[in-house]
Amino acid sequence: MNSEIQKVKEEILAAAKRAYQIGLQTGNGGNLSARVPGTDKIIIKASGYSFGECTTENLVTVNLKGEVLGEGNKPSREIRTHLAIYNHREDIYGIFHCHSPWAIACAEEATEIRPITVHGKAKIGSIPVLRVLGHADEAVEKGVLEMLRANPALSAFIQTRHGIFTLAKTITLAEHHAELVEEIVQIELLAALRQFLTRNLKEEC
Ligand SMILES: [Zn+2]
Repeated sequence: MNSEIQKVKEEILAAAKRAYQIGLQTGNGGNLSARVPGTDKIIIKASGYSFGECTTENLVTVNLKGEVLGEGNKPSREIRTHLAIYNHREDIYGIFHCHSPWAIACAEEATEIRPITVHGKAKIGSIPVLRVLGHADEAVEKGVLEMLRANPALSAFIQTRHGIFTLAKTITLAEHHAELVEEIVQIELLAALRQFLTRNLKEEC
């Protein structure tokens, strides 16, 4: 196997394993992919496999048009969203997506999440919420492209009732950013809870 492809596959496996071990994604949901530098090849998790089950053999290689290269598994059904991002942003080499509960809960009524922490602001910045209910369909693709045009440096967004998407220069960094987004929304919800409790305890006094 071409050494560059092997290297990208190993990075994907490490990111998938880490996310699965820390519970960022349970079951067989979520997906991740990476672009092979200098080519039009994208390697993505196969449909139906959990992050914990990914191997170099079951990952799927497609081109930027979404055509599967070689024999094997079907790519994740969310390949359409990944390709929309790769085709729009040539600087992106890794995309991570998970159905993490805090992010989904926090995005329920928000249009944007502004991190309150220093590192959240510096590493991610404002996180838009994509308020489209489809699943990797035309409506989602259209919404993602509109968001990318409106935010040229976008590194993360949350799709309402679905989950986190992060895009970065490597799949390793994209996975780390998803962890950070989940941390940001936990702090957001805890801060809101603290505010609510403080207000209500004062009213009771
Ligand atoms: Zn999903």
